[in-house]
Amino acid sequence: MTESAYLQRACPSCGSLRHDHEVASGRRAENLPIDELRPFWSGFFKEKVFFSYHRCADCGLLFAPTFFSDEQLDSLYAAMAPNMDVVTSDAIVATQRGYYEVAARAGVDGGYLEIGPDVGHIVEQAANTERFDHFWLFEPNRAVHAPLAQATQGRPCSISTAMTDLSAVPDGSVGLAVMIHVLDHLVEPVPMLAQIKRKLKPGGALVTVTHNERSLLRHVMGNRWPPFCLQHPEVYSPASIAGVMRRAGFAAVRVERSRNYFPVDFLVRQVAWAVGLDLSRARLPTTRIGLRLGNIMTVARP
Ligand SMILES: [Zn+2]
Repeated sequence: MTESAYLQRACPSCGSLRHDHEVASGRRAENLPIDELRPFWSGFFKEKVFFSYHRCADCGLLFAPTFFSDEQLDSLYAAMAPNMDVVTSDAIVATQRGYYEVAARAGVDGGYLEIGPDVGHIVEQAANTERFDHFWLFEPNRAVHAPLAQATQGRPCSISTAMTDLSAVPDGSVGLAVMIHVLDHLVEPVPMLAQIKRKLKPGGALVTVTHNERSLLRHVMGNRWPPFCLQHPEVYSPASIAGVMRRAGFAAVRVERSRNYFPVDFLVRQVAWAVGLDLSRARLPTTRIGLRLGNIMTVARP
């Protein structure tokens, strides 16, 4: 009864209707009405509830065949509180610096385009160089537009709340396009990727960071793996992200595991939570360490 309210979809990468159930939460989102899902969307409960993920029998993408419609997503995102960071800020900066180092080697001079730049950790590093003549930034969270503008350090920039309409960006003008943990939020990734590809100039590159559902961490944590959540209509692997990039028209795709920087106490608490240990009163070291932990970085060229 409630299921009919949600979107029923084919594989968002290859369009196949053949898929096999692979992972579900205890209570499944597809069996609950949207008003019961709102608190889970905002992360108010420890209990995990998400739409069941199936594996496409044709291309291997892990995706939710039942998911929120565009209208439902608009209302959920509109009600969402601004980003609440769990990881300390210098760990985020170190992680994003690692991303920029790879991205900077991949792209060429010209326009800089980023979807979902948040406060602009990577924008700031890109603006420290003379390489980029215009910053095109698409960020739905208006609360971060001021720090984002500051991150461009006075260079020409256009900041928009749109996430899917890049028509303001001249075709063939962008040297480097960046999407950090954005692709696995998109219900229709292929049209978005094809649009970005049109914006790239010869030699330009799109660099993305996504979770890796083939990672050791996913297999250790099972259905408690954090990327299994209401915000992710699909979750990629190195093979399935290469597939979606090629279907969007990218010719050269390179995938590598990326490094994340975490304070040790944060990591220990995450693992303890996953196995049901309460360490809330334990004193733990806060040293930062870099781990190749379940994320993949993809460099795609037209
Ligand atoms: Zn498929």
